[in-house]
Amino acid sequence: MSHSLVLVINSGSSSLKFALIDAVSGDARLTGLGECFGLSDASVSWKYEGEKASCALDATGNHHQQAIERLVTLLEELGLKQDIIAIGHRVVHGGERFSQTVKIDAHVLNEIDALSELAPLHNPAHVIGIRAAMQAFPYLPQYAVFDTAFHQTMPAKAYHYALPQKLYQDYGIRRYGFHGTSHYFVSQEAAKQLGKSADATNVITVHLGNGASICAVREGKSVDTSMGFTPTAGLMMGTRCGDLDPGIIDFLMSKGWNQADLQQALNKEAGFLGVSGLTSDCRGIVEAMEQGHEGAKLAFEIFTYRVAKYIASYMVSLDELDAIVFTGGIGENSLPVRSAVLKHLKIFGYREDTAANEKARFGEKGIITKPNTPIAMVIPTNEEWVIAKESMALLHA
Ligand code: AMP
Repeated sequence: MSHSLVLVINSGSSSLKFALIDAVSGDARLTGLGECFGLSDASVSWKYEGEKASCALDATGNHHQQAIERLVTLLEELGLKQDIIAIGHRVVHGGERFSQTVKIDAHVLNEIDALSELAPLHNPAHVIGIRAAMQAFPYLPQYAVFDTAFHQTMPAKAYHYALPQKLYQDYGIRRYGFHGTSHYFVSQEAAKQLGKSADATNVITVHLGNGASICAVREGKSVDTSMGFTPTAGLMMGTRCGDLDPGIIDFLMSKGWNQADLQQALNKEAGFLGVSGLTSDCRGIVEAMEQGHEGAKLAFEIFTYRVAKYIASYMVSLDELDAIVFTGGIGENSLPVRSAVLKHLKIFGYREDTAANEKARFGEKGIITKPNTPIAMVIPTNEEWVIAKESMALLHA
């Protein structure tokens, strides 16, 4: 039986992720990852019906192009190509220009490219991926779904920095926020699980993965979020520092640090990795902490304390709070992280239901606080499904 499929592409600077999503059920039929682009060991691997396979790409040449060409061949071999009705691209930065999903044409592509100034690590890579996909599938409509779009509803008081307004006017320096598709998805799911309509639901969504951010969602709309002008802001992350006294940058520059040194230290060597001196991976942090590693313990404590502080501060963005929603690799899977965060929130009445929290560790998601206490819940995110759904909605509009 043939199905309508949406191909979701997330093109990064040295990688390209793809997923073939069933437009009705939301199931991922095929998932894959091209990685190590630009290096001699570039490859593409994929999973189809539980089976994994991979192939090497030519050492030289355009690896984005090669990965897409391999994908086309694979889709033909699996007999899936003719069922694809649209392509949805994840695009990190839509600036103030894009507050919703758009169909990609030459003009939109130029605008995504122009926003590279705000997202130099991401948007140029998206443009390369989109161009390659347009060449390979010239007959298919392609859509751009932006990480920043969901946060375009933030009020001015939330998105402006306390800086001279000239910096906003001249350079667009403001809070944009990221992970929008994830915050959107889990806030909608939370409303469903609470039996309410999304536009009457108020939640604080807590996306904790290698990148991490928190969002206050008021009546279905983002009203504040912890990432800012860049995804370095807010929470402590795998290798990113999160919020920082800007005076530290000044101080380090006075010590001879340059832009590249700062970029490396704050984005690649900070967070779990920098504090623990061990690993950027939360599982490794928890394991080492349990074995008495002091650096891992400190990293865990800073991380969970900061998550709780952000949740507490976002209560002022809402008049009512229906639930705190944990998601992302850590939020969905790490019982100790959720437990520590809820302990910090005791003053607000949160009481962990240890059995429910334990169950959530093994895939049973849902409410993890005790009956008749404020609700915290775990909801797995599904950004690919959002990208596929948004693309479908525009296709049928
Ligand atoms: P993401 O970026 O959403 O894929 O999340 C990656 C993070 O999730 C890493 O820090 C992992 O250590 C963490 N993670 C994934 N699975 C688990 C697990 N079963 N328990 C604890 N942390 C996990």
